[in-house]
Amino acid sequence: MNKALRKAVIAGNWKMNMTPSQATALINEMKPLVADAKCDVVLCVPFVDIAAAVEAAKGSNIKIGAENVHFKASGAFTGEISAEMLKEAGVEYVVVGHSERRQYFGETDQTVNLRSLAALNAGLKPIICVGETLEQRELGYTETLLKFQTKMALTNVTADQLKDVIIAYEPVWAIGTGVTATADQADEGNGYVRQAIAEAYGEEAAQAVTVQYGGSMNAKNAAELVSKVNVDGGLIGGASLKAQDFSVIVKAASAE
Ligand code: PEP
Repeated sequence: MNKALRKAVIAGNWKMNMTPSQATALINEMKPLVADAKCDVVLCVPFVDIAAAVEAAKGSNIKIGAENVHFKASGAFTGEISAEMLKEAGVEYVVVGHSERRQYFGETDQTVNLRSLAALNAGLKPIICVGETLEQRELGYTETLLKFQTKMALTNVTADQLKDVIIAYEPVWAIGTGVTATADQADEGNGYVRQAIAEAYGEEAAQAVTVQYGGSMNAKNAAELVSKVNVDGGLIGGASLKAQDFSVIVKAASAE
């Protein structure tokens, strides 16, 4: 295990929060607080906030991501957004397969794979979310499920493209609930993800992939979570809407 082989990434996921003017104000507040970060700092924002967010983040170390991407390049898909559209708008990262999309919008392992490929082919970095429900954990399926979801998401992703992939282990029972996985549970889950990557691409390639933890990470628990060998930063929901809290998480990841 060598944490030094990969850069930690702290990514905010704003979900369905923030208007464009609120996005500008929040990013302006965050910029000085995260300016000396030693990890990558990303904010994944609603589609309508992208233009304002890209403008506000200009000249800073904050990179902008989207929260979803369609898998087709163009066509009759009313309401959807393509990877090329995101790229031209100044987006660098995109969340794919968030559990809220799997739960409420019919996202499947197959569409997660197609969206990941569309993102990579357009030069975007997908942050691919995997994670077990509480029921799956209690039945003892966490390892099997995480490995399956990871391998499914990476189907037809080349070894070269893997360098642009981030995986976020997000136990469904910990997202937006205030219940955080213990640091050991996070490390174990991230470890399963990394093992799955190693089984598909080899150990060396797996050691270079950023694997985040996500699920009620906050200013209080971030330092312990990101200190774990398999935890390369985090995907942060609620706490990414508060500049001060988000910056504390960025500082914790920078100290690793
Ligand atoms: C998320 O949205 O990916 C997330 C982890 O949310 P929260 O931090 O609010 O649990």
